[in-house]
Amino acid sequence: VVATNSFPSSSVTIPPTNISPNAILPLERGDPIVFGEYWKKMSETCTVVIKGWELMSYLSDMNNVCWYMLPETKEAIKRLHHVVGNAVTEDRYIVVGNGATQLLQGAVFALTPSEASKPINVVVAAPYYSEYQDEVDILRSGLYQWAGDAALYEKNEPYIEVVTSPNNPDGTMRGPVVKSEAEGKLIHDLAYYWPHYTPITHQADHDIMIFTFSKCTGHAGSRIGWAIVKDIEVAKKMTRYVQMSSIGVSKESQTRVAKIMGVICDGYQNFESMESELFFEYSKRILKKRWEKLWEVIDESKVFSVAKYPKAFCNFTNESSESFPGFIWLKCEEGIEDCGSYLLEKLKIRARGGERFGVSPKYARISMIGTDDEFHEFLNRVSNAKKECD
Ligand code: PMP
Repeated sequence: VVATNSFPSSSVTIPPTNISPNAILPLERGDPIVFGEYWKKMSETCTVVIKGWELMSYLSDMNNVCWYMLPETKEAIKRLHHVVGNAVTEDRYIVVGNGATQLLQGAVFALTPSEASKPINVVVAAPYYSEYQDEVDILRSGLYQWAGDAALYEKNEPYIEVVTSPNNPDGTMRGPVVKSEAEGKLIHDLAYYWPHYTPITHQADHDIMIFTFSKCTGHAGSRIGWAIVKDIEVAKKMTRYVQMSSIGVSKESQTRVAKIMGVICDGYQNFESMESELFFEYSKRILKKRWEKLWEVIDESKVFSVAKYPKAFCNFTNESSESFPGFIWLKCEEGIEDCGSYLLEKLKIRARGGERFGVSPKYARISMIGTDDEFHEFLNRVSNAKKECD
């Protein structure tokens, strides 16, 4: 038995948890429940009441390219980006989707040339978000196909490159990497470009930028994502894709998003609810605290290592800071070839292994955005793994 709920004999203080040492720790998913405590405190302010007769129509605003998007959703999204300063929205089209997941597929569809004789290649630099490959391959489409690691792409054929920045799983800031001379189009997945995860160094201004409510506020269950798009034809095709797969996006969810984004912005712009901490300050503080504890444990570990993040000046918080990503990208040291199996067999921690992200099984991804108990139990077990090797 490796894990105990007592304090390990290192310099790091880890609170005891209610999790049994024999229980499997489920840290393979990125379920963002860490922010739940904040929303519990804000519960009255964020409550949305929807009457039985409201929001019944499929339609919202027929003057907008994205006709199923509620005007208040659009306004809330633009206001939030304006407050945070992480993306340009002026003179851009906004397309709402059922999570970033639907919009990624909609964007690939929209960028596929209609006259192409064979499927266009979709590439992402490894390590890449583990779901992209299945999202692209699931329908075995004649329009597009998965072509793997963007850094290895050498075909002289048109391609679509997805740029994830900050990246899932490793939290690094990224740009396009394909070197081929062929015609390429870009989709930027900016799910984690928010000030609690990383310094906001610039206003992003790419052709297609995808964001999600899931990772911004933690409301993954609302299934709301949005894309900021420069080209009206691309925005129309993305809207068409959402229409064909779900005839729009739940208006109950859109209403909730608009409300919660409004509460966040009111805090920053009107100094409302000043008795409680503002959302990004709170969430950054929590993530920072977790990362600091993690560093202490990892620095003492002979089994695992994690790359350090450079500091950068954040225009939103007006301070220089490291990144505090939503995942730990763990590397197992010499002698352990399969990090995921080691974690599961020795420490009863379920992680997602490196191969799912297109790299070596020496790596594994661990969620940093689960409950406090899960996180502390994780630290306990990793810290005890070190003792085993001493
Ligand atoms: N892109 C990235 C990089 C992600 O990490 C995730 C969620 N883990 C998604 C997209 C999907 O987000 P959503 O819940 O909005 O579908």
